[in-house]
Amino acid sequence: MTNEDISRVKELLSPEKKIVIVPHKGPDGDAMGSTLALKILLEELEHHVQLIAPNDYPDFLKWLPYQEEVLIFEQDPQKCSSHIAEADVIFTLDFNSLSRTGDMYEPLKNATADFIMIDHHQQPDDYAVVTYSDVTMCSTAQMVYHFIENIGLADKITPQIATCLYTGIMTDTGSFRYRSTTSLTHRVVADLIEKGADNTSIHENVFDTSSYGQLQLLGCALQNLRVVEGLRTAFITLSQEELDRHNFRKGDTEGFVNYGLSLKGIVFAAIFIEHKADKIVKISFRSKGTFSVNDFSRRHFGGGGHVNAAGGKSDLSLAETVEKFISILPDYKTSLAL
Ligand code: 5GP
Ligand code: MN
Repeated sequence: MTNEDISRVKELLSPEKKIVIVPHKGPDGDAMGSTLALKILLEELEHHVQLIAPNDYPDFLKWLPYQEEVLIFEQDPQKCSSHIAEADVIFTLDFNSLSRTGDMYEPLKNATADFIMIDHHQQPDDYAVVTYSDVTMCSTAQMVYHFIENIGLADKITPQIATCLYTGIMTDTGSFRYRSTTSLTHRVVADLIEKGADNTSIHENVFDTSSYGQLQLLGCALQNLRVVEGLRTAFITLSQEELDRHNFRKGDTEGFVNYGLSLKGIVFAAIFIEHKADKIVKISFRSKGTFSVNDFSRRHFGGGGHVNAAGGKSDLSLAETVEKFISILPDYKTSLAL
C-alpha cells in the first residue's frame, strides 16, 4: 500500500462508520476468512459492520468465528440492498470486478459509499478509492494481515481474527504448498499462531469433516478423470445426475480439480461440473509452471483468476463444453506438448 492509500484509509475509517464488507460469489476459504477477519477488527473499532456474501458458502467454513452474523444476499436481497445503499464505506475482498458478485452487482454499482478493494487477482477494475491489489500475494487473507499492519493496528489481532486469516491463507495456498507461498507468508502464519490461531483444529475443521457422500463423489470424479495424450492435460467431469446420486452440497467438490495435477507429467487440469438449475457448466482450471489458466479462461470460458488457478463457465451442455475444451487444446501445443 502507498502512504497515500494508508492515510486515505485512516481518514475513511474515522469513528462510527457504516461499513459493508463483500466477498465474491461462491465464497471460498480465503473470501470468508479475509472478510470475517476484517469484520471482527472493524467492530473492535466500534464501526457498524455488515458482512454480505452474494450467495451461501460451504459447510466446511460454517465454524469460523462470527460466521453466523453473515447476511446472504440471495436469501434477503431487500435487507442487504438497504445496508449497501446506506453504507459509508464498502470493502470488496478477494475479487476485483463488481460483476463477480452476481445479483449484488446492481446495488453495488448504485452505492454512494467509498469503495476499498483488497485483492490478489489479475487485472483489477477501477471502482475503488483505495485499490490495494497485489497479484504476487498468495491470498487476500495475507493482504488483510498487511493491511492491518499498515494502518498500525497489528496489536488488535485477536485469536478470532488470527483464526480467520490463517484459514484464508491455508485454503488459498493448498496448505502452504503453491508457488505464491513465500517466506513472508510463513512469517505471517507464525505470527497468527502466536496470536492464537490453533493450526491443528483449523486443519481438522476444514479438511476432516467430509460426509460419506462427498467421498463417494470424489470416487466418481476420479473414475471420470481423463488424460489428453500428448498435451500434459487431465480433466474431470461431473454431471448433475452424478451430483444428485451422491447428495451434492455446496463445497463438496472443493479441491477435486487438483487430483488431475497430481498425475505425473500433467501441467494443466480442469474440472467441469454441470449445474442444470442455472443452465451452466462451472469450470475450474489449475496449472503448474508458466501456463496461464487466467488467460485461457478469459479467452475461452468467460472467467479468470490467477496464472495457476482460475474459474470460468460455459452455457453449452456438459458434453459440448468438454468437446470445445478438447478442440481448443491443440492451439496451446507449444506450451503444453513436451
Ligand atoms: P475456482 O476454480 O476455485 O472457482 O477459482 C479459482 C480462482 O479463480 C479463484 O481465485 C477465483 O476467485 C477465481 N475465479 C473463479 N471464477 C472466476 C471468474 O468467473 N472470473 C474471474 N475473474 N475469476 C474467477
Ligand atoms: Mn483468494
